[in-house]
Formats: sequence, structure tokens, C-alpha cells
Amino acid sequence: MKRFLLILRIPELRHSNLRAEKRVRILTDYSHRERISDKDFEILESFSSDIPVKVGALAEALGLKVMIATLPMNISGLIQPETDGHFVIKVNRFESKERQRFTIAHEIAHYLIHRDKIDAGVVDSVLYRSKLSSRTEAEADRLAADIVMPRQAVAGAVRKQGGNRSEQVVQDLATAFGVSKQAMAIRVG
Ligand SMILES: [Zn+2]
Repeated sequence: MKRFLLILRIPELRHSNLRAEKRVRILTDYSHRERISDKDFEILESFSSDIPVKVGALAEALGLKVMIATLPMNISGLIQPETDGHFVIKVNRFESKERQRFTIAHEIAHYLIHRDKIDAGVVDSVLYRSKLSSRTEAEADRLAADIVMPRQAVAGAVRKQGGNRSEQVVQDLATAFGVSKQAMAIRVG
């Protein structure tokens, strides 16, 4: 259910009948690229072809600390500033690895495009809702999906399968990218 909800927030991927050239264009970039600094974007891109994307290492490269923490059951993760000005991401130790990976990517997304809104911290519920607006949360979800399922890497993997999108292929891709099968099913259309 949780994953189903976050998948619905990837509007450009709901349509499987995109024209080929539009699909190629979409596959070449990250959501909200214009709001990511060039320095951060360079780091982001450098992590986009080694699959599964090393989200923990990516966070570190961006100057963030990641902690697997004991959080309340209804909280997936959070990002907050530390006294030294750096940000720390905490993810709920009781959630699945795939879920934790997505949460880290979601918090990275907040850091990349909502840094000015974090203030004392952003705490994300299991539905990725927080003090921020639902539109802002949807932005973070979209960028998080791009981080864990880089469009070019997914497109390349699908091409390798001869365009086959069978259930088994989707499952294999999900395993390879360290994401849920449902998330990958939406990604590959
Ligand atoms: Zn959030």
C-alpha cells in the first residue's frame, strides 16, 4: 500500500504510450535538475551508473551523514541539521532494505532541492508526509525515484532484455536496482 501510494506520485510515468522521442528525452535527466547545484549534480550523476546505486555513499559524498536509527513505527526517516551545520539522515531500522534505500534517496532529495525548507528538521511519515506541503513531498518522491532508478540505467537494462517487460524481468530489474517490484514496474512502464 505504501509503495503503491508513492508510485502514483510519478505522473510522467503513468503514461505508457509516450512517443519514443519524448521517452528518450525523459530518460536523460533527473526531476528538478534546474534546482540542483552543478556541484551536487555532478556527484549525483557520478553515482548513477553503478547499480544498485550506493545511496549511503552518495549521501556521504554530498556531505550528509546517514544513520540507521530506532524510530517510531509510523516514521520512515528524517533529515535534520547538526550543530556543526552538516545534515544527518536517519532511517527506520525496522523497515526493509529497499524501503530504507528509498527513504535515504527521499531525504537526499529534500537536501538537494528543499534545503531552505528543512530548518530544524523534516520528519517523514511512512507515507512520506511531513510538515512540508504534499506538493513538496511529491517533488522529493520523484527525485528519489530518479536517484534509486536512474532513467538511463533502467533504459539500458530494459534494452538488454530486448524490451521485454515480463513480470520476471521486472522482478529481476527490481532486485538489481534494490527497489520494490511495484516501483520498478511503474518505472519500466
Ligand atoms: Zn519528505
